[in-house]
Amino acid sequence: MKNVQKDFIIVGQGIAGSVLALELIKRGKNIVVIDKPELSTSSRVAAGIWNPVVFKRLTKSWMIDELSPCLNEFYSSAEKTLGVKFLEERKIAKLFTDVHEINFWKKKVTEDMSEYLSEEILEMHAPLQSKYSIVKQAGNLDTVAFLNATTQYLKTKESYLQEVFNHDELKINVTGVSYKNLNANEIIFCEGHLVKNNPHFNYIPFKPAKGDVLTISCKQIDIDFILNKGMFIMPLGNHLFKCGATYNWQDLTDVPNQAGKEELIVKLKKIIPYEFEVIKHEAGVRPSVIDRRPVIGAHPYNAQIKIFNGLGTKAVMLAPFFTKQLCDYLIYGESLNAEVDVKRFVEQMK
Ligand SMILES: Cc1cc2nc3c(=O)[nH]c(=O)nc-3n(C[C@H](O)[C@H](O)[C@H](O)COP(=O)(O)OP(=O)(O)OC[C@H]3O[C@@H](n4cnc5c(N)ncnc54)[C@H](O)[C@@H]3O)c2cc1C
Repeated sequence: MKNVQKDFIIVGQGIAGSVLALELIKRGKNIVVIDKPELSTSSRVAAGIWNPVVFKRLTKSWMIDELSPCLNEFYSSAEKTLGVKFLEERKIAKLFTDVHEINFWKKKVTEDMSEYLSEEILEMHAPLQSKYSIVKQAGNLDTVAFLNATTQYLKTKESYLQEVFNHDELKINVTGVSYKNLNANEIIFCEGHLVKNNPHFNYIPFKPAKGDVLTISCKQIDIDFILNKGMFIMPLGNHLFKCGATYNWQDLTDVPNQAGKEELIVKLKKIIPYEFEVIKHEAGVRPSVIDRRPVIGAHPYNAQIKIFNGLGTKAVMLAPFFTKQLCDYLIYGESLNAEVDVKRFVEQMK
């Protein structure tokens, strides 16, 4: 087989690998992505919601003022490149459980959250019958449409290999790396929670969390915004709704969990006073890190090996901003935000 020279090999084409691949191509780099989508389902089952607000404390999500403009710019530009629409700005309706929640919301609006929280307290009529307010500057990415369109684009550029990456076959040398017939200056691992199988980065203290999601059908509900009341209910059109998600730190397989399904049904019945039918049950494992920050950068002893991971529960928001930062680091040697740099875990290698 003829040897092929690339600038970068990317392993994994979830949200992290996809955003990175598109940005590197945009910057004129010659890349190849190796991915076996069946191995991990996180990016494909995600609701793809971006929410600028942490509901528990009604504070801004980490770095949201920087992430938000980058998110809109990146996905809008990707829509043009790929010729597919996958980004939708949407309101999130926060349903209140009691008067304390309403008062806390009003207090936060007058403090520093008016950019993201609406001051209006509204009344939702039957069937959901609840007081609510709106989170502004939110929305969702159709992750499956985004990933599929990216795969097609990579194929047209002869930059895609659908196969399992075998770490034993990676060779590291002074000028770069080689894998089978591929030579590259650097390799970037975007393997999501399957980083646990990566001998170069399995020292990082990940704390993966499995999530189950349901797709339900409910003819009586007709809304175009995302509902939130301890869980999200996101309209998909045609009276279908994606609902979730659970958090499970024990069962870390991508196989849907029956207890997770039951937990969601119980919660849904408290919110929706009508019969609904479960159409689909899916699960995935979020690649969260113990300090809840992304993990980006070079292996401490082999600079040709890089990682882009740890997007946790917020991949849609984090990926565009930190991809730009990673590309500036790879191409111009600019520094990474210390909070996300993989260097912070060097002690754990010992
Ligand atoms: C139920 C649920 C709901 C979620 N909802 C949201 C949400 O609303 N908004 C949000 O922003 N985030 C959400 N998330 C989180 C989000 O899904 C993750 O942060 C994101 O998917 C991580 O993307 P990733 O690219 O790092 O990893 P992954 O999506 O896991 O992608 C890794 C890719 O690498 C491939 N791979 C791994 N190892 C190999 C190998 N050896 N060879 C070949 N290929 C390999 C895998 O098959 C996969 O395709 C949710 C997650 C779950 C589970």
